[in-house]
Amino acid sequence: RTVPFLTSQSLFLSSISRSVSTLVLAEHEGGSIKAPSVSAVAAASSLSKDNSISVLLAGSGPSLQEAAAHAASCHPSVSQVLVADSDKFSHPLAEPWAKLVHLVQQKGGYSHIIAPSGSFGKNILPRAAALLDVSPITDIIEISESNLFVRPIYAGNALCTVRYAGANPCMLTIRSTSFPVPPISADSKSEASISQVDLSTFGEDAVGKSRYVKLTSQETERPDLGNARVVVTGGRALKSAENFKMIEKLAEKLGAAVGATRAAVDAGFVPNDLQVGQTGKIVAPELYMAFGVSGAIQHLAGMRDSKVIVAVNKDADAPIFQVADYGLVGDLFEVIPELLEKMPEK
Ligand code: FAD
Repeated sequence: RTVPFLTSQSLFLSSISRSVSTLVLAEHEGGSIKAPSVSAVAAASSLSKDNSISVLLAGSGPSLQEAAAHAASCHPSVSQVLVADSDKFSHPLAEPWAKLVHLVQQKGGYSHIIAPSGSFGKNILPRAAALLDVSPITDIIEISESNLFVRPIYAGNALCTVRYAGANPCMLTIRSTSFPVPPISADSKSEASISQVDLSTFGEDAVGKSRYVKLTSQETERPDLGNARVVVTGGRALKSAENFKMIEKLAEKLGAAVGATRAAVDAGFVPNDLQVGQTGKIVAPELYMAFGVSGAIQHLAGMRDSKVIVAVNKDADAPIFQVADYGLVGDLFEVIPELLEKMPEK
């Protein structure tokens, strides 16, 4: 008869799995941590009260060190910032990043690894999870326990509660709109240490098959769509890129970001980085204004968490009115010019 007993090793392993230590994969730009990555830190801090949070940054040049200082003070729960400084990380390519996460995890033995659910996190986290042989859980909107998470399914029409029962690390992407960052007062800032990641074992083969070619971005003074307090969105009903300028003008007057439906993007009125929805950006601004948007479920999936929704549509039965707080049945070609005329110049 075999008698089950706990060896010191199994006791050690069970204590590891209970304690929470999290690695947050952070994206930075111009010497600052991007807002969705700070939300990932906020999500990490809700995993457990005694969570020890490390933030991983990679890049090269002086802006990386500035970003490290920002990461150290971006949230009171951050205890450590790990910096991987190498030309290999000049651009956030998935292959070297995934290898870096693997390397850092081998040394740190984190219980959780979290990234924001944007193109950065969606690109890196699944590859890193494959290297670490665990299944990632994506698009988390709520953390109930350190292994119990809520995520939307069916384009946000149902919420699914998932228990992670796999080995460490539990790898997550979080929806940044669901984890707002509370204002950090000067006296609650953390005293996080900053250390360099030892890349001596990283190896040349860590550079993968993809290659950075170029970045094409639009210079705009408008707020970033993902973080804007106000979003003004136009749909197919605008009919042309020229007419879409009305939406842009309105956004300018309101200090808002511009959004678009997939139909408007597919018709070439605006570039696809403005698309809101299931296959576009997820937004949750204070105010979301939708002009000539029918309210297809794939669009609602990206904006239904907005605090106040205003819709203008000439069809009184348009589904957008089911989620709108304020609805106006009318022709946008009359409503927008009137709004522009009545609103004061900025
Ligand atoms: P329409 O559905 O054509 O609606 C136009 C609306 O404008 C109508 O309600 C009409 O009454 C109104 N209108 C017309 N003229 C006027 C006027 N003069 N004044 C006022 N109102 C007017 N869509 C997204 O938006 N985002 C996504 O991420 C997304 N992902 C998708 C993923 C998949 C897998 C699939 C299958 C679809 C996806 N779609 C997405 C497409 C989605 O199903 C809809 O086709 C799209 O959202 C419709 O865009 P729309 O509201 O601009 O156009």
